[in-house]
Amino acid sequence: MTLFIDVDDAARLFTQVGIRRAIREMAGYIEADYARWAQFDKSPRTANHSADGVIELMPTDDGQQYSFKYVNGHPNNGQQNLLTVMAFGLLADVQSGYPTLLSELTLTTAVRTAATSALVAKSLARPGATSMALIGNGAQSEFQAVAFHEMLGINEIRIFDIDRDASLKLKHNLAAFPDIDVILARSVKDAVKGADIVTTVTADKAYATILTPDMIEPGMHINAVGGDCPGKTELHADILRNARVIVEFEPQTRIEGDIQQLEADSPVIEFFRVVQGEVAGRENDTQVTVFDSVGFALEDFSSLRYLKDLAQAQQIGQRIHLVPTPANIKNLFQLLDPQPAKASRLRTVS
Ligand code: NAD
Repeated sequence: MTLFIDVDDAARLFTQVGIRRAIREMAGYIEADYARWAQFDKSPRTANHSADGVIELMPTDDGQQYSFKYVNGHPNNGQQNLLTVMAFGLLADVQSGYPTLLSELTLTTAVRTAATSALVAKSLARPGATSMALIGNGAQSEFQAVAFHEMLGINEIRIFDIDRDASLKLKHNLAAFPDIDVILARSVKDAVKGADIVTTVTADKAYATILTPDMIEPGMHINAVGGDCPGKTELHADILRNARVIVEFEPQTRIEGDIQQLEADSPVIEFFRVVQGEVAGRENDTQVTVFDSVGFALEDFSSLRYLKDLAQAQQIGQRIHLVPTPANIKNLFQLLDPQPAKASRLRTVS
């Protein structure tokens, strides 16, 4: 039997443990998996591009468990009130190939992306950071705000979106966290000025320059989440040239990240090296750091592991028959009911 977690189950799980704890715990799973980087089978994701978006498959395994995520990115979907990003995924036993968990991953991707951003920022942002600009106030934005509040103690969030209603929605939702002071900014420049951390999480299928070099101040950490596809970027290339750039898995980020704008040998640091203590995240207080986030399969592997443990502890989810269990494995045919076949033959004859 396979454990099945649908959207309602996932929402119930995160609500029951609380979103702050869920983000913190999921970050712990992600960090633990980055710490054993060498054990994972790694490849850039397989992307099927179309005029309006992309559908991607993200597989990995650690020799014991295998996972994949199906995820899309369709920035124009919002015009029909459809989600820009949606996903589902699976965990399986490597030894037998049998699936152990099938789960929604839309809500979970928002949690894992925010958990990863905050985890990376813990090593890259200036110690004592208290304020963050949050540009792009769509589906991912609350999760980013809560993750940085919970894991870094960020208590001032300056928000901006070209869609004013999206910003008002974010402000309204963050009212549930009274320790977060939410400031509506008039422009990207206004939001970014004086911030310790800048998160960009916009959706546009374009070489956008949400941030330009004149907005960047010494010591800032930039958490660039929305540039995650060929032809879809958020940062001016000179920001990257003058910063310490951290990536998840370099071969994938070269194709999809903001660094697609740079020379193929521009210096970057893979995050696992920071987790393993091989290199420092930030070297000094004035350095500008960038996390060029695109989302890597290992993080979804970690989220599926976390979901499974959480669902088992909370007794949430259904056991489903995703693969057959015939009494004789060579007799798959026995699963078919002979009666409907007989009935349809009779109908044909008449
Ligand atoms: P969404 O469509 O719900 O929200 C995007 C928001 O960006 C919208 O409110 C839109 O008005 C705003 N926006 C677009 N252009 C802007 C601009 N120039 N300035 C300010 N705001 C602007 O999408 P979402 O689900 O929140 O995802 C946001 C982005 O994050 C997408 O590009 C998505 O592909 C990416 N993403 C990345 C990861 C990752 O792991 N790196 C994971 C999930 C989503």
